[in-house]
Amino acid sequence: MNFEWTEGHRAFRQKAKDLLAEHLPADWAAQTRYDQGSIYAANFSRKFCPILAREGMLLPHWPREFGGSGMDPFYHWILGEEMAAVGEPRSYQYMYCNWVGPAIMAYGTEAQKQAHLPRMTTGNVIWCQGFSEPSAGSDLAALSTRAERTANGYVINGSKIWTSGASVADFCFLLARTGDKRNSGISVFLLPMDTKGIDVRVIKTFMGATAFHEVFLTDVEVPESARLGEENRGWQIVRHVMYNERIGAPRYMLTLNALDHAVALLKAKNRFGDDMTRMRAGRARGALNAARTLCHQVIGERVKGRPPGPLTNVARYAVVMADRHVAEFIGDYLHEELVTNDDPLIAAAYRRTGSTGFAAGAAEIQLNLISRDLLQLPREG
Ligand SMILES: Cc1cc2nc3c(=O)[nH]c(=O)nc-3n(C[C@H](O)[C@H](O)[C@H](O)COP(=O)(O)OP(=O)(O)OC[C@H]3O[C@@H](n4cnc5c(N)ncnc54)[C@H](O)[C@@H]3O)c2cc1C
Repeated sequence: MNFEWTEGHRAFRQKAKDLLAEHLPADWAAQTRYDQGSIYAANFSRKFCPILAREGMLLPHWPREFGGSGMDPFYHWILGEEMAAVGEPRSYQYMYCNWVGPAIMAYGTEAQKQAHLPRMTTGNVIWCQGFSEPSAGSDLAALSTRAERTANGYVINGSKIWTSGASVADFCFLLARTGDKRNSGISVFLLPMDTKGIDVRVIKTFMGATAFHEVFLTDVEVPESARLGEENRGWQIVRHVMYNERIGAPRYMLTLNALDHAVALLKAKNRFGDDMTRMRAGRARGALNAARTLCHQVIGERVKGRPPGPLTNVARYAVVMADRHVAEFIGDYLHEELVTNDDPLIAAAYRRTGSTGFAAGAAEIQLNLISRDLLQLPREG
């Protein structure tokens, strides 16, 4: 077995690094504080993603027929690692690369593919994900936003919450109820965000000034052609999306940088000498390495064309744990830097842990799925 990257993978990674070195603004860290949801990052993505597109780097793993480069999924993952390492200059454009585009390829009509995929290949379109609702997070199938049939299509009423990037998005990948049965009463809509009746409100949190939103939908009219896939069969699409989303963003890369930076800071201050500090740093590093290796295994399964399995949940949980180890290390050994908030990377690594066990599926849900699908433990009752 060969664990090395191929020559092609290495050259691709180098090219990604070179493009970042050439195009990432000198004040990127100060402007964004490593918040991919900042307005600055979103605006920059509309300049930077077209550069990636021109260089054939934006959609390496998409099939050529849809404007991709037809490379194996490791290329896409390498790109993601390099982007995540510097705080994701693709901002929310990474989402259509990872899962919105592939979902449209798999379930879209010819007209939907023509309407959406070419625009993604230019690198100048932002999508948001309208899934969660106040009473439907982990239990997503409880969602109650409703799309009622009309003569020409649907009229949608309800609200979404925690929608990342909604204030800068051009489109929303929206879930709405079209039937009464839980999982089999849900449909997906490809909704332009400038449609009448959509009201986006920022939720201010410590995660970033414009990271989260509530999206209110009042008598939003969409044509039938906005529905992705068959009516009431949206859950199948959701499962497809979640598989690509759970292991979609190599977030451990920024955390890895932050840990190295934290250790360098402690060394410079002569505070890295004792065994406990070194052991804690080593444990965090080990957790990050484990998370990275598990994610690579998941991508390896995709390369082989194998169906999604519980390894995805294991890898996702490992990513959450690695983030937490690093945040705890920073909290325990660099608390002064956290209080002054002068170091964007240290602050970002700590701040992220507030969301790491929730975004793209709660950590405890991953454990439930691991116990059911991998360990096959008996269910209560
Ligand atoms: C950074 C970030 C970005 C996000 N972006 C988006 C987005 O763009 N679009 C979108 O739609 N949503 C988004 N979300 C929302 C995210 O999908 C939800 O937070 C997540 O699904 C959990 O749902 P919830 O917040 O309602 O928590 P809940 O489901 O209420 O869970 C609360 C707690 O209870 C635990 N819990 C719940 N059910 C069980 C169970 N069955 N067994 C064990 N424990 C359980 C959870 O693990 C969690 O600790 C984002 C969240 C974050 C943090």
